[in-house]
Amino acid sequence: MSVGAQQPHVGMAHGAPSAVALRPGVAFPDWQAVSAPNAKDALMAILSAGERLERWEGYGEEEDHVRRAIIKGLANLSHAPDTAWLAMSTGVDRGRVAELVERLVSRDLVVRDKGTGDVVGAYPLTTQATEHRVTLPQGTVHAMCAVDALGAGAMFGADVTIESRCRGCGAAIRIATKEGGTALGHVAPSTTVVWTGIRYKDGCAAMSICTTIAFFCTDAHLEEWRQVNHPDAKGYRLTPDETMQVGRAVFGPVLKPAQDSKEELP
Ligand SMILES: [Zn+2]
Repeated sequence: MSVGAQQPHVGMAHGAPSAVALRPGVAFPDWQAVSAPNAKDALMAILSAGERLERWEGYGEEEDHVRRAIIKGLANLSHAPDTAWLAMSTGVDRGRVAELVERLVSRDLVVRDKGTGDVVGAYPLTTQATEHRVTLPQGTVHAMCAVDALGAGAMFGADVTIESRCRGCGAAIRIATKEGGTALGHVAPSTTVVWTGIRYKDGCAAMSICTTIAFFCTDAHLEEWRQVNHPDAKGYRLTPDETMQVGRAVFGPVLKPAQDSKEELP
């Protein structure tokens, strides 16, 4: 770990949309991953819906370390990582781990069960049985939404298989990635599209915006579903590739090691 306790850098760089420096040379989101105008618009809407960039103030090395450990724990353990496991795997003492988890929850980077207080998720992964199953090299996990499912491979730098269902008719949707989780491989059915609803509530994306980011087997089923459920709601219809661009922009930086300081944000 070579990250300083620097304040995250939030601001406009050369007229580009805002980003935060997670660690030296690693910006969130990775705007370079987003080339399609539609994907760019959807990402900007997602970020502004959750005021995501403003939530990073004071985010530092220790918090980053615990956040990454939670995500790795969710992928590797048969249960959600608890304080004892996090303390052991990060070398941070239990009391401090508890404080840092609290901060991550307040930033909506980690989700806790309101009743038990147990960690149940850290974007993009969750212990909850969502309709999006992602098979990683280390095992099968659930992702919070379609964007999260399509960003998980890039985050781990590994190819994944996504099994989900059409939100309209329940038909199976299966996507395999290539190039270390950064590109689409096989998409079945080939007519698959994604609806990205823009709705953020109660400081928790998992319970709001994530529930409206879903796969559909055809545009027709997306349209039918919208007519019934959210006819006036703001959102974006994305292709799987556009959705993957958003997923890569959001999750590609999450576990990426600090880069050469020459690559730091201007
Ligand atoms: Zn369908």
